[in-house]
Amino acid sequence: MGQLYAVEIVYRGIFQKTLAKNISRAIVLAAHREGKPGISFGRYGDSPERNGIPAKSFAIVATDEQTLEEGMAKYEPKEVDVTICVDDTLCKGVESWAWYGLQPINRLLKPGGTLVVTSKEEPPVLIGMIHQKDVPYRLAIVKGTPSFSGLWVYKDDHTDVRLLGTLSKVLPDLFSLMSLQEVIKEEWDDPVKASSALRAYERVNPVVVPPGQGNAETPYQFTLPKWTEMPEGIAIPAIPLGHAMKDGGNGHSGGFRPERNPTFKKYTTRTMRPVVDFDLCVKCTLCWLQCPDSCFDVTPDGLYDAAMEACCGCGVCEAVCPEAGCITMVNETRFQDNASQWQAWRKDPQEYKRWVRETIADRPDRSHGFRYRGQYQEQLPEMLTIAREG
Ligand code: SF4
Ligand code: SF4
Repeated sequence: MGQLYAVEIVYRGIFQKTLAKNISRAIVLAAHREGKPGISFGRYGDSPERNGIPAKSFAIVATDEQTLEEGMAKYEPKEVDVTICVDDTLCKGVESWAWYGLQPINRLLKPGGTLVVTSKEEPPVLIGMIHQKDVPYRLAIVKGTPSFSGLWVYKDDHTDVRLLGTLSKVLPDLFSLMSLQEVIKEEWDDPVKASSALRAYERVNPVVVPPGQGNAETPYQFTLPKWTEMPEGIAIPAIPLGHAMKDGGNGHSGGFRPERNPTFKKYTTRTMRPVVDFDLCVKCTLCWLQCPDSCFDVTPDGLYDAAMEACCGCGVCEAVCPEAGCITMVNETRFQDNASQWQAWRKDPQEYKRWVRETIADRPDRSHGFRYRGQYQEQLPEMLTIAREG
């Protein structure tokens, strides 16, 4: 039996699909140059992809055909040598479309395997978000703003080749930098991309994360029904009507909370979340009407509180809110919990105001699609400077 190598690429549906495909394809091409057969594929369970929903691609490579065949007999790898995470907010975990609860980003990593993350953050910040593991692993950061694009456009900011250059360093048995350079020439014929891969190769500096370090929370999970428990036919019960808020304060219930899917939580499906300045709200109802995920609880005092278990971070509420500064989308790396903002505002309005000011002033770059024509062209020079100079 030969050696089998597995790499998973965890990405945000649609926005990073082409990026993930470019990486997994180039892995197989580079390994092939060294006589190692391989295959790349997307995980079926992630379809249909939806904007921002976590999804996965895999690249499986072996030292010989028979080992590859044996490896491919599995539906998807149970363990991987390297996890590539192309959006640092996924360090909080991965809940895929119709999947089975929250998977820690490092869940499939073998002992001593490497988690590679694109981020502007330092290791302690990322480790604080990543769930603890009972075996050591390595964390390597590829510096830069996580790369997002759309269905029909691709932001060629060299994130693809920088990650590939990093991979050739952290798992040299998979493919060498020289093989990668040949693939870059063949696929892109761009010497600047080749030098970006080289820089990433030279710069990568993984840290070892010892067992028990990181986020101690137990990841959210639920039990799938057994086949004997499934009802006949294909009727799916609709989500029931909502109900009054039970925790509405003021000693009375009041307010309204829409019913939500009890199993599909969207804590990790967003790269940014809305921060609401309740003092500026004019109660126009637009956010409540337009939110595609029915996130907003109507509070007893007629305000609108976005429930973080339902918010996918689309930014529609910010776009429709008529009051400047009332709703501001902020990068998800900024937050440590999913608590109600309205409850915090009621408890201490002054302190809440201070928190809002601080939070919306220091919002790391938005990393969610592109918001106006020409935005990629504006972002590219910065990313290419980072690729060149660090
Ligand atoms: S970002 Fe706003 S509109 Fe979008 S899901 Fe979250 S609360 Fe709803
Ligand atoms: S859209 Fe803005 S102003 Fe209107 S209800 Fe929502 S938060 Fe308030």
